[in-house]
Amino acid sequence: MMPLNILSHSVVKETTIQHGQLTGCRATSSPCPPLPQDFLWAGNGIFRSVTRTEFRAVALYHRVLTPGLIELSPQFQLLVSPVPREKVKDIIDEIRRYPDLEQLFYLYWRGECWEVFKPEQECTPYSCVCLDPYPEPAAIEIHSHGYANAFFSKTDNREETGCRISTVFGRTNRQLEVTSRVCIHGLFLNIDSNRIYQDINHYCHHVTDF
Ligand SMILES: [Zn+2]
Repeated sequence: MMPLNILSHSVVKETTIQHGQLTGCRATSSPCPPLPQDFLWAGNGIFRSVTRTEFRAVALYHRVLTPGLIELSPQFQLLVSPVPREKVKDIIDEIRRYPDLEQLFYLYWRGECWEVFKPEQECTPYSCVCLDPYPEPAAIEIHSHGYANAFFSKTDNREETGCRISTVFGRTNRQLEVTSRVCIHGLFLNIDSNRIYQDINHYCHHVTDF
């Protein structure tokens, strides 16, 4: 992780967050009012909170105990509809169509529904390169691993520096499997793919603890 100077932060106290608007909320309970977008100094560590149109998330940045502040938990909340089952099926069909290749999909929330976009790409069994040099930033990025497992590689960790949901499809013994996480500017929070994709259980094993 890059060294970081925390220029501003909010302090999570029993009844208020200074510099924020969270009043009278036990931040460990959910749903809560939106936490301030920032670094949050809580009793059990420093967290980073982000909100964008499609989701809100809180991830641990650094574990440090500070008596007198309330504790936070990592949180994720999808703020729009999950990706509908027919679009999930389209993605799965496409992955099955080229089972030995890595593939890439971008998903955009268009105000009322999800748009699934498969950019121009150069695919091999071990890599997938988007040929569009300036793709519109997607709220969800999906890539498949061909016949390899569903996991986030070192390359994924290095490249996923933005704020979005990331999903990997892969295979174990030819059975499709899936894992998802929220990327928060270099922090990662594993999430249940069921919360993002309708009926994903019909197609996949889940491989991540969350
Ligand atoms: Zn990958």
